[in-house]
Amino acid sequence: MFSAKLKPHGGIRPYSHKSLTRDIAIRPLAAPRQLIVPLRQHTGPAAVPVVAPGAILSAGQLIAEARERMSAPVHAALAGVVTDVVSGDQGYIKIKVNAPADQPLAPRLAAPDGLDDVHAMLSLIEQAGIVGMGGAMFPAADKIRMSLRYPIETLIVNGGECEPYLTTDDRLMREQAEFIIGGIRYLQAITHARQVYIGIEDNKTEAIARLDELCRQERNIEVVILPSLYPIGSAKQMIEAVTGRQIPQNRRSTEMGVLVQNVGTCIAIFHAIRFGKPVTHRVITVSGRAVEHPGNLLVPIGTPIKEIIGQCGGLKSQPARIVLGGPMMGRAVEDLATPINKGTSGLLLLNGDELPQTRPSACLRCGRCLDACPMSLAPQAMFAELKNDGFAKARQQGLNACLLCGSCAYVCPAALPLTQFFDWGQQQLRLIKHQEDKLSRTRQNSARRQERLAREAAEKAAALAAKPARRARRNAPPTEDTPC
Ligand code: SF4
Ligand code: SF4
Repeated sequence: MFSAKLKPHGGIRPYSHKSLTRDIAIRPLAAPRQLIVPLRQHTGPAAVPVVAPGAILSAGQLIAEARERMSAPVHAALAGVVTDVVSGDQGYIKIKVNAPADQPLAPRLAAPDGLDDVHAMLSLIEQAGIVGMGGAMFPAADKIRMSLRYPIETLIVNGGECEPYLTTDDRLMREQAEFIIGGIRYLQAITHARQVYIGIEDNKTEAIARLDELCRQERNIEVVILPSLYPIGSAKQMIEAVTGRQIPQNRRSTEMGVLVQNVGTCIAIFHAIRFGKPVTHRVITVSGRAVEHPGNLLVPIGTPIKEIIGQCGGLKSQPARIVLGGPMMGRAVEDLATPINKGTSGLLLLNGDELPQTRPSACLRCGRCLDACPMSLAPQAMFAELKNDGFAKARQQGLNACLLCGSCAYVCPAALPLTQFFDWGQQQLRLIKHQEDKLSRTRQNSARRQERLAREAAEKAAALAAKPARRARRNAPPTEDTPC
């Protein structure tokens, strides 16, 4: 065990609110009556349903297949009957749950015959539908396969749960440390990473002690104590703190020989390879001052948030905001039928006192946002450009590297909506790129067509030019040389 090599630049120390749930053990949610399972719980295109309304399901059964790369299959968490299927990116499969106590289980996942160990393990990770459980939702098998293009020296297991309120990873490290080590061993076998570090913030003392105890029996797995700083859980900050190396803005960490995986992802990998189990449940923190009994719950994926609130004793007061994820990077929701997906780490029911007061004024040019930005960007300059639709200049200033972490907005005394602008700006850049690509394809097609037409015209002209000569030769009177 050792302390971080250096404090990554930028970052903030928001009030953690973790005392609401950090000492509450994970408990399973009682089976809900209905699941609404989203088809897109990963970065790529939506999975394709393989069941129809009326289908009777076993727990763990495949209900939607991955479509292509960056997509991940989806499984039923509980036994039941399919009541509705809607395809597409916003699609879902509704399941009326039954037999929660003694439900039939789908067969365990199995790797196809003939694969070597590494590909068999990757196949199981892929079949299990594992995505980054820290919230990124990048399909784990794709991420590992991409990392194999480079020699991976270092595996960093991310126990940096820096968002306020969330204690999911803290509880997993305290209660399921053996599974994390099991997942790490499989990842080592796949990537041949020589050194493994488990990065944990210094406010998680029990988690540090538990994992350090297990790591003493391991040859090359070490715990690294990190400063409690937001957003130390983002991959680039984690790498900087653990290894002392900065990953340049336009490079991937795997290109530099480092693979980062979240602790929850390691547990899912362990269960997929060891027991052939797909991802059907996840642990979430339910917290905030508006909920009666905050806690950490093991929740079937697809459970509507209304059901979870009900099983946490209901509401103490009407929440001013409901957030899926953490308060810094989470998503505000209004519809209580919204389901939990594989990337949901928290459900926050916040009352008015827990929200920042937002009455924006003009920028004071105080420079606090510059100090807070973990990516060394100039938030106030990007904001000024975006206000005037200066997308190209904002891009030059590094808008695409922005993590949308909200650190700049958190420290801004003028309460400027910096993160919302950067989020919108990144969407506009994606749109502009899409239009530029389309225009460039149209131009290329048009140029190719012009070339083809010009070539055909030249060939035609050449053929026409050759015709009179041939005709003249045919019509010419025979000479002595003309063969009979
Ligand atoms: S939201 Fe973007 S600009 Fe603001 S601190 Fe985070 S990375 Fe920097
Ligand atoms: S923190 Fe806010 S007020 Fe200060 S320079 Fe940045 S944008 Fe302006």
